[in-house]
Amino acid sequence: MKDTSIAGIGEFSGKTVTLEGWLYNRRGSKKLQFLQIRDGSGTIQAVVALADVGEELFELASGLNQEASLRVTGEVKPDDRAPSGFEMLVSGIELVADSVDYPISPKDHGVDFLLENRHLWLRSSKQHALMRIRGTLISALREFFDKEGYLLVDAPIFTPSSVEGTTTLFEVEYFGDKAYLTQSGQLYMEAAAAAHGKVYCFGPTFRAEKSKTRRHLTEFWMLEPEIAFANLDDVMEIQEQMLEFVTAKVLAKHRDELERVLERDCTPLEKVKAPFPRVHYDEAIAMLKEKGQDLEWGGDFGGEDETILTKAFDRPIFVHRFPAAIKAFYMAPDPEDLKYSLSVDCLAPEGYGEIIGGGQRADNLEYLQERIAEHNLPSGPYEWYLDLRRYGSFPHAGFGIGIERTLAWLTGRQHIRECIPFPRLMHRIQP
Ligand code: ATP
Repeated sequence: MKDTSIAGIGEFSGKTVTLEGWLYNRRGSKKLQFLQIRDGSGTIQAVVALADVGEELFELASGLNQEASLRVTGEVKPDDRAPSGFEMLVSGIELVADSVDYPISPKDHGVDFLLENRHLWLRSSKQHALMRIRGTLISALREFFDKEGYLLVDAPIFTPSSVEGTTTLFEVEYFGDKAYLTQSGQLYMEAAAAAHGKVYCFGPTFRAEKSKTRRHLTEFWMLEPEIAFANLDDVMEIQEQMLEFVTAKVLAKHRDELERVLERDCTPLEKVKAPFPRVHYDEAIAMLKEKGQDLEWGGDFGGEDETILTKAFDRPIFVHRFPAAIKAFYMAPDPEDLKYSLSVDCLAPEGYGEIIGGGQRADNLEYLQERIAEHNLPSGPYEWYLDLRRYGSFPHAGFGIGIERTLAWLTGRQHIRECIPFPRLMHRIQP
C-alpha cells in the first residue's frame, strides 16, 4: 500500500509519486491520453503523452478499461481547473487487474439496473459523494451528543416484544420461540436514561411496513437520544440545535460535492438555524384544509400533507401535540387537554417531510397499564418497562432521527434508496 492519496496530493506538488486506484474514465487522441484516476479519497486527471512515455506504455494507457485497477506514477502539477487542484504527468503505469466489460458506463442507466449493480454503482461519483456525506452526518450527530454529555448505549436487535405492536415487525425464530427484529431502541434507552441521565443509541432498525414510498426502507439507521427529566419543549430545543450543528458540519466539509457532484443548491441549508417554527397539530390541520387537502381532525399526515406543510416554511418545522389516539402507547398525554399527546415530529423543508419523531414519555404506571391494554398489547413483555415507572419514575423525553431521510434532504435526493449503502426495500434484498 502506498501512502499517497489523491485527497492529500497537494503535499507532493512538483514531486513524483505513485497512486493506487481505478480508472474512472479515459479520453484521448493518438498522442495524448487523459486518465481519470480515482482512489476513494478523490479523483485526479493523469496525462499520458506519447512523447514522454514511449510507444509501449502509451499503448497500454490507450487500451485501459474503465475500472481497471492501477498503479500510476508521475509528477504532480498544480492545475487550477481540476477539482483537486492538481494533475499528474504520467511516467509509469502498472496494470494491477483488468476490468473487462464493466457494466456501468458513463451513459444513463435505469434505476433498477443500477440497484441490481449496487455493489458497483457505489463507485460512481454521485454515490461516492452520498456515502461520504452519510459518514459525516453520522459522525457529526455522534459528535453533537458526545460533546453534550450523552452516553452511547447500544440497544439490542433481537427483541421479545414490539415497541408499537407486531404488525410492522419482522418475526424471527429464536430457539423455538418468537422474537422480532427491533423497530426502535427507545424502550431500552428509557431504562438506560434512568441509569445514565442522557443517553443515545445508534443502529439499524427494521420495519416490515408494506410501504413502497420514496421515504420508506425496511432496514434503516436511527439515532435515538433519551433524556431524563426532559420535557417536550426540551426535546424540540435539542433537535434544532442538533440539526443546526450537523448541517453546518456537512456544509463545511462537503459544499463542493453537494454543489458540483450532486447539484444541490445549498442556499436552503444555510437557513437551518434555530429556532424552528413550532406548529400545533390543530394549526397544521387548518393549514392543510386551506390548501385543499382532504383530511379530518384526528388523522395522521400522509407524505403529501407533510410536503405541503414544509413548503410554507424556509427551515425545518416542528409539528407538536398529535392526537393521543394516533400515537404510540408510551406517549405522555398533554395535561392541558388529554386528547393530545406530548409528541413532536420534525419535518424537513423543501417538501422532504418527517425526519424525526419523538416526544415526552408517559411516566405514570396506571396510565401506561391502561394504554397497553387499550392497544391490545400483551402486558407480560412490558413488565420490565413498567418497572421503570415502579422504581423512581421520572419525566423523560427523547426522539429518533432517521439517517437516510435526513441525508436525502441534505443532499437533495428524491428517493432514500440512494442514501444507504445497500438498500432493503419491499421488493429488493439483492445484492
Ligand atoms: P412514517 O409515519 O413516515 O412511516 P414513523 O412515524 O413510523 O414514520 P418514527 O417511528 O417516528 O417514524 O421513526 C423515527 C424516524 O425514523 C422517522 O422520522 C424517520 O426519519 C425514520 N423512519 C421511520 N420509518 C422509516 C422507514 N421505513 N424508512 C426509513 N426511515 C424511517
